[in-house]
Amino acid sequence: MAASGRSRVGGCDVTCIRSILLTRLRTRSLPTKAILFKVGLESSPLCRQCGIVDSNDHLLLSCTVFEQLRNNLRASLGIGALHYNWICTISTFNRRACSAVLHFLQSTNLF
Ligand SMILES: [Zn+2]
Repeated sequence: MAASGRSRVGGCDVTCIRSILLTRLRTRSLPTKAILFKVGLESSPLCRQCGIVDSNDHLLLSCTVFEQLRNNLRASLGIGALHYNWICTISTFNRRACSAVLHFLQSTNLF
């Protein structure tokens, strides 16, 4: 725990990590298997669970493993369907929506 009371990981506090995750989501550069495969850090671009290319869209919109988390996200956002481009336009001033999206991402235990 840092002196400020915030936990730190590798010199980056929780606020910094959350900002990085949101930026990576918005730029479709979350380190999914497809992206890690492109840079030689994974042997396959396919999702281990679904066998579908593990892209940012797959993670956020269709991976069967995260269906319950996705349902929770939809409920938190008060929407019926998720649209990647809409998620990317959530203002950083909309703390409730940002927290819901970040909760989804962190609940996947992938990041
Ligand atoms: Zn999947």
